[in-house]
Amino acid sequence: MRIAICPGSFDPITNGHLDVIQRAARLFDRVIVAVAANQPKGPLFSLAERLDMVRLAAAHLPNVEADTFSGLLVDYVGQRGAHAVVRGLRAVSDFEFEFQLALMNRKLNEHVETIFMMPRESYTFLSSRLVKEIASLGGDVGEFVPPPVLAALRKRLAANPI
Ligand code: ADP
Repeated sequence: MRIAICPGSFDPITNGHLDVIQRAARLFDRVIVAVAANQPKGPLFSLAERLDMVRLAAAHLPNVEADTFSGLLVDYVGQRGAHAVVRGLRAVSDFEFEFQLALMNRKLNEHVETIFMMPRESYTFLSSRLVKEIASLGGDVGEFVPPPVLAALRKRLAANPI
């Protein structure tokens, strides 16, 4: 049983994340989408809300499950008996940070492999940060996020605009 972990903040999950998760689900027997509790950026959605949105967005993928983690990713990977970490690479701009992160994780635990996957071309410009910014300015983000996320964004931003 080959297990992959897709870690991230998922604040909120976008169609770009989902594209990478779907690709990982074709390569691995089981994929665990791990929502990070430690979020230095000050998330719009709580950990429970982010987890819920991931669950709803990936409900149609039978070998994908969602979980939360805190502390070091390499420790979580070990706890879950996973074989690889899957990260999305959108553009060259992602590369430097991701490269650093992957090598640091390898330094912390040499058994943890990181695999990079490219999303569909039309998602390469997509980020959670941009989605939140556009939505908060009244723009339509319907084609960038799964339907439950669109509903959650509308509700959150109507209650307290950012
Ligand atoms: P982090 O805060 O750790 O960057 P994110 O939730 O933003 O976490 O992203 C988690 C992973 O998903 C990262 O590997 C990131 O590169 C990837 N990712 C984010 N947006 C996209 C996208 N549009 N297409 C492909 N991968 C993406």
